[in-house]
Amino acid sequence: MNENTKDYGVSEYLFDLTEKQVVTLDHEATNGEGWILYCQSFINRPTVFKNKITGRFRNIERDNFVEVKVDERQITTFCSSCRNGEICLHSVALLYSWIYDGDAFLNIENSIKQLKEMKKGELIDIITRILLNDSDNIEYVMDRPEDDDDYDLDGLLN
Ligand SMILES: [Zn+2]
Repeated sequence: MNENTKDYGVSEYLFDLTEKQVVTLDHEATNGEGWILYCQSFINRPTVFKNKITGRFRNIERDNFVEVKVDERQITTFCSSCRNGEICLHSVALLYSWIYDGDAFLNIENSIKQLKEMKKGELIDIITRILLNDSDNIEYVMDRPEDDDDYDLDGLLN
């Protein structure tokens, strides 16, 4: 794994996750299917932010978004295809990718640092492109979130 990853606020629980732990999880939760999927897939746009990794498995029919959070005692996952709250093969494949291809994960913390250094006009250009790319994102402009359990965005941006 890239040593730089450690400098940018990646959670120790995620950083300390071992190959052995992922293999055990794979066998317990997916009967080894996670490994097969990892070997057969290309994971699009892998990212890391603190204790969370995300990625997309794309195929012809759909764009499958997967998120895995690693805490001290538990791993929580979300998968847009499986949605059953259990650890699925996509989540396990993403964890294998984190272990073996950690360098490929874009650190959101880096992007936030870049945003902090930008001028207002540059930020507006970026936000405009985000809105034009997916008009659903207009909700972030219309309604500011009242509470966000995941992290304190105000604290990050100040
Ligand atoms: Zn899944």
